[in-house]
Formats: sequence, C-alpha cells, structure tokens
Amino acid sequence: MIKCSGYAAAKAKDPLAPFNFERRQPGPKDVFIEILYCGVCHSDIHQARDEWGNAVFPMVPGHEIVGRVKSIGSEVTKFKIGDLAGVGCFVDSCRQCSSCKEGYEQYCTNHISFTYNGFEQDKKTPTFGGYSDTIVVDENYTLRVPSNLDPSGVAPLLCAGITTYSPLRHWKAGKGQKIGVVGLGGLGHMAVKFASSFGAEVTVFSHSPGKKEDALGLGASNFVISTEEKALNALQGQFDLMIDTVSAQHDVSGLASLLKRDGTLIMVGIPETPLPLNVFPLISKRRQIAGSLIGGIRETQEMLDYCGAHNITSDVEVIPIQQINEAYDRTVKGDVRYRFVIDMKSLSR
Ligand code: NAP
Ligand code: ZN
Ligand code: ZN
Repeated sequence: MIKCSGYAAAKAKDPLAPFNFERRQPGPKDVFIEILYCGVCHSDIHQARDEWGNAVFPMVPGHEIVGRVKSIGSEVTKFKIGDLAGVGCFVDSCRQCSSCKEGYEQYCTNHISFTYNGFEQDKKTPTFGGYSDTIVVDENYTLRVPSNLDPSGVAPLLCAGITTYSPLRHWKAGKGQKIGVVGLGGLGHMAVKFASSFGAEVTVFSHSPGKKEDALGLGASNFVISTEEKALNALQGQFDLMIDTVSAQHDVSGLASLLKRDGTLIMVGIPETPLPLNVFPLISKRRQIAGSLIGGIRETQEMLDYCGAHNITSDVEVIPIQQINEAYDRTVKGDVRYRFVIDMKSLSR
C-alpha cells in the first residue's frame, strides 16, 4: 500500500483536518500521480456536510485533480512519467453496461466508483479524493491535460468544465441561440465561457448584483438580477436553453417561463432539498426540464482538448490547503471569483 496524506472530514459538518490514509499499490494499468492542484467544487461541500444524505466518512473530498505522472504500470500506453494528468469525478465504472460501452460512464447502471465518497469496483474499498498528495488511477479513467494551459486553471475543468460543456453540446448550443446561465459560480462561469465560445448569445441570471461586470467580461451579453420580477417578466419566452447551476432553493418554474416554446431548462445544480415545481409554464409551451451529470471520459477528453485549442481555463483563486474550511464558507456565501483551487504543495507545510 502507498501512504498518503490529505485533508478529511471525520463526520458531517466537522471542519476538514489533516488525515493519513493508504491507497493501493499501482497495478499494470495504473497511473501514479502526484497531485499539483485540486479544485473546490460545491459538491465537495454538499457531501462533506452530508447534505445529500449519502456521505461515507472519513471523507477526503476533491474531484478536480491535476497532477504530474510519477510512475506508470507496465501496460500503460497513454502516459509517460512526467506528463500532466487529470482526474475528474469518477475513477472507475463497470465497463460492461450499455452506458459504459457507449462512453457515458457517468450513467453506469451497475456501479460507478466516484473519486471520493464512493467505493472501488469491489464495492467495499472506499475511495479518497484529491485533497491529498498522490492518487492511483487506471489509465482509462485518467485524462490527458493540454500542456499550454495553466494547470491551476485546468483543475476545475475536470468537474465544473465538463458538467457545463456536456449538456451544452448535447442540446447543441451554438450560433443563433439565446442561452440563459443561472448562477454565476464555479459551474456558471464555465457555462458562460463555453456557451459564448460556441457562438450563442448568453444572458446571466444572478442573485448577486456585484457580478455584472465579471459576467460581461466572461462573454455574456446581458446580465439580469434573478430576484427582480420586472426584469424577468420582460424576458418571458425568449430563451432556447437555460442551464441552472444554483446550489440552493430557488424558483425553477419562473425560470422555465423564460424559455421559448419547446425550450429546455437543464438542471445541473443539486440543492440539499427538492425544488417545488409549478407545471403551468411547462405545459403552456411544451417546455422541458432536464438534468445532466458531469460527462464521460471520451467527452471530458474532448472538452480538455477544446480548452487547449481555444485557451479556455477556469478563473481561480489559489489557496493553501490550510484555508479549506474558510474557502467552504466563502463558497457557500458566493464569495469566490470563480473557483477555489488548492495548491497541493501547501500540504507539506
Ligand atoms: P458555486 O460555485 O457555489 O455556485 C453556485 C451559484 O449559485 C452561486 O455562485 C450563486 O450564483 C448561486 N446561488 C447560491 N446560493 C443561491 C441562492 N440562495 N439563491 C440563488 N442563487 C444562489 O457552486 P458550483 O460548484 O458551481 O456548483 C453548483 C451546483 O452544481 C452545486 O449544487 C453542485 O453540487 C452541483 N454540481 C452538479 C454537477 C452535476 O454533474 N450535475 C457537477 C458539479 C456540481 P449568483 O451569485 O450568481 O446568484
Ligand atoms: Zn464537482
Ligand atoms: Zn457501467
């Protein structure tokens, strides 16, 4: 076994604290990665605080991982020692079901091994995430990272990036479309970057008036304060697509009424409690509400390559791991522009 150090939550709502644990000895298909940076996703907070009711403790969060390959197994062909490598929200899946075979491993019907707060394919060995010094991952679940990008800004692409890229591609976001992005946080700011890069006209809906200039700077054409009823009323029936990244309770029915006939509201935010739904806005214009979970390995690689070619990274605030608990509180308050990323060098301090 390999000795690792990181930060963990011992139980729900405990602050994260230093934690030592072990990972498997790398096998022939494994890549052994020294973690350089790990992004702080709001899902880390939901899970470390057991807001989704599925937490396994002790929990080492972190699924936006960029690191350097330290060693490779004898059968590894995708990486060599010294390469940059990325790891996202899952580290394995059954590889047999139709979703896995079609490259949608995130929708595996048998057993997906999430990067943390989950179990390996044996369904009993717990997984530990990226708030740690090293990780061992099968090369098939490890991503190549474009070398022209700042690795700290790449880390959030492994979750915030793919979670917004995938539905925008699936629902064919592009030129001539009006797209609404609801919530300008880690996911939201990536949605703005991708949707505008794909040629769509983007409107940001935010409950934080102070984010207007940033939204326009990120590529949005319009900024609307989501609590201003008058502004929302003026935009009824205008949008082809809306992507909702909000992490807390809010009015989804009101958002749905902003869609054109047959438009789609894509839910990616996962609040702690269910959202109430008024069905009238759906029925009156055959509108749809859909959901989307991260993205498969093939599409995550496509997204990283797209970012490399178009020079897209996340806007980050790099922190030492000792500030992780403060970073959680600030994220919940919306006080981050737009993703905290842990510099893992700080672990050895
Ligand atoms: P984040 O950085 O905290 O952003 C969430 C944004 O939601 C905030 O910046 C804020 O935007 C808005 N918001 C927060 N509280 C609000 C409130 N009370 N009322 C209205 N708006 C509020 O979080 P994130 O990392 O982007 O994650 C967003 C959500 O997506 C989380 O629930 C996370 O678990 C989920 N997620 C889902 C997937 C998936 O695969 N579907 C993947 C990753 C994350 P404004 O200040 O602009 O209003
Ligand atoms: Zn995430
Ligand atoms: Zn599967």
